[in-house]
Formats: sequence, structure tokens, C-alpha cells
Amino acid sequence: MVKSTPRALKLENLNILIDAVSQKYRTYGPVAKDGENAWEEVKADGELSLGCAATMLPAKHILQPVRLDLYSFKSSGGFQIEEPGFDEKIALFGVSPCDVNAILALDRVFGGRFVDPYYWQRRENALIVASNCTESAEESFCTSWDTGPELYSDYDLLITELADGYLLEVGSQRGKVVVNGLNLPGATQEDLKEKASRLDAARAATKKRLPVPPDDLHQLFEERYDHPIWVPNAEVCFSCGNCTFSCPTCFCFDIRDEVKPSRKEGVRNLEWDSCQLLEFAEVAHHANFRRLRIDRFKHRTIHKLSWMKQQYGLTGCVGCGRCVRWCPSWPVRRGRITSLADPVEIIADMLEPPEKVEGVERPGGVIV
Ligand code: SF4
Ligand code: SF4
Repeated sequence: MVKSTPRALKLENLNILIDAVSQKYRTYGPVAKDGENAWEEVKADGELSLGCAATMLPAKHILQPVRLDLYSFKSSGGFQIEEPGFDEKIALFGVSPCDVNAILALDRVFGGRFVDPYYWQRRENALIVASNCTESAEESFCTSWDTGPELYSDYDLLITELADGYLLEVGSQRGKVVVNGLNLPGATQEDLKEKASRLDAARAATKKRLPVPPDDLHQLFEERYDHPIWVPNAEVCFSCGNCTFSCPTCFCFDIRDEVKPSRKEGVRNLEWDSCQLLEFAEVAHHANFRRLRIDRFKHRTIHKLSWMKQQYGLTGCVGCGRCVRWCPSWPVRRGRITSLADPVEIIADMLEPPEKVEGVERPGGVIV
């Protein structure tokens, strides 16, 4: 006899769940837009683009928008501050396992020594409906970090596509409240087996892998900090920042005050920043801690792949492949055209014996 499990349910179609979620939360999900996927507000499953095709910007940008007005201020008979408040209940519907792992890394950053109340107001009000990846994207290497294709915890609800519907797993009280009253049948042992075999197939299809175990990366970068391959790599970098803006674990931002001409009122806002931009590390008198492009290129790479783990205890790379996809520089390395920002390729570069390092060229040869 086929048994059902208490926490796993069967869902015929996603509309049932989207309806239930959007009654309680403003719901965002990945939506196909201009040939790519973007996080947008969703109301029905026809709009959703699930699977392993990563959105151009990660789910993080709903929690920490590209630009956010934090508060307005006024000086008339005293100094007044007005905060818009970020207590809206939001749901992130269809977050991939790697993006959930990236959110956990951001939680460490914004909840560590310095707690960011603006991030946490949104985060604590966010329902995470994660979606296991039953396919593999060419650029992703999540299996190297064990950040995908399967999520094991840290979700409110988790869906996995099956041949005849979805497996729905409940991971929190908040998730339980959403599905209560939907009268969904329990999942069968066959459903659970199908989930396992689909995820095994997705794992096997993820061919791209880090060339060394993640635990060895710190030592690798320590030993090869001055490896000669950094030079030609950095020479074909545009310093555009795409690799950081598209990365789900990058967290740097700038704070600006926009003051009206009256000088009596204004707005304080937050805007994403990038360590790849020349001005990022500039201080007074145009002193700049990372004026050289090679220093900025190295900084991103080593921070993602090693230092973030040292600082926060969680990897700064979850293998989503966005930096690979969105880097505009595709130089020739080891006789192949590869994405300059690709962590897998950069580590392969570091493994080259220094005496064997050859120039890295950008096809067309133009270096800007
Ligand atoms: S470094 Fe690249 S592959 Fe790693 S999480 Fe960031 S964008 Fe994804
Ligand atoms: S590595 Fe690529 S995406 Fe990153 S700053 Fe350089 S050119 Fe831009």
C-alpha cells in the first residue's frame, strides 16, 4: 500500500498555491520578459517561468532593491524624519535553491555585527516559496557548493515539479498557515521517489564543477595571490560591475542624501554599489584603495570564493552562473572563449603553473 507523508502534499497546479499565497502576501516570481527572466509581481501560474533559467537579477533585489528611499527629512522648527516603513508582507514565489542559500548569506551580512533594520523589516515579512531545480542551466555549478539543485531547509514552502503536478513541502508554521484549508491530498511514496529521481537527474546534468574542493580555495588564493594570470585577466575586464550587480550574494550599497534647493528638506536613499567600479574605494583627495583594475578584479574573485566564508561562515558564491552570463568580456583562455568573470575558469587559471601562463586575449583584440 502507498503511504502518504504528513508534511508533503500534492498540488495539481500552481494556481491553487499562487491564489492562496497572493491573498495574504504581495507575490513576486520569475517572469519571462524580453527574452530573459525577471522578478515581477505575479497573480497566476501562466506568468511564472520556473526551472533553472536564472533571472537576470536575483531574488535579493526584492529584499534589497537597487534603489530605496529610506526616509525623508525636514527641518522646520526642529528636525523631522519620516520613514515610509517596510512592513508589507511579500512572498518570493519560485526562489531557486541557490538563491535561497544566497539569502542566507545576506542574512549573515545584514544580521551580524551591524544589523540593518531596513533589510530585516523586509526579510522578516517575506514568505519564501522555493522551487527545486529539475533542470540544469549551462552556466551553473551549484552542485560544487551543494547549494542546488535541491533545497533541504530554510523555506516556508517548497515545490518540486512532477510529471502530473507538484510536490509541495511545508517548512514552517507560516507556510502551514498558507496551505491550511486548501484540502490538498498527501503526497505518495511514488511522488517522493519521483522527486528524488528528478533531482538526481538534475545533479547529473550539472556538468560544470569547481576544479578544486571549496575547502581548498582559501589556501589556493593565499598561495597564488600574486599569480601572473591575474594580469592578463584583469586587462580584459571592463570594470562594468555586471558580475557584482547580478550576483545574489553581493551586498554593497551606498547611502546618499538628496537635499532640495531650499536646503530644508530631502531624502536619504540607498543604492547598490560595486567593488568593480573605480570610485568604489575612493576617499578624500581622490585617494583610492583599489585604483588598479587588477586589484578590483582580484578583490571580487577572492571575496566571493574565499574571504566571505572567512568573514561570515557561508560561501559568497552559490554557483548560480549569473556572473558568467552577464559579463560582457569573453576572452580566449586555454584556447577557448570563456566568460572572464566565471569563477570556475578563474580557479582553473590559478591552477596553471606560472611558467605556462600565456596571454589572455579578447576576441577582436581591442582592450578598452
Ligand atoms: S560569483 Fe557568480 S556564480 Fe557565484 S553566486 Fe555570484 S553571480 Fe553566482
Ligand atoms: S569581470 Fe566582467 S562583468 Fe565583472 S567587471 Fe569585469 S567585465 Fe564587468
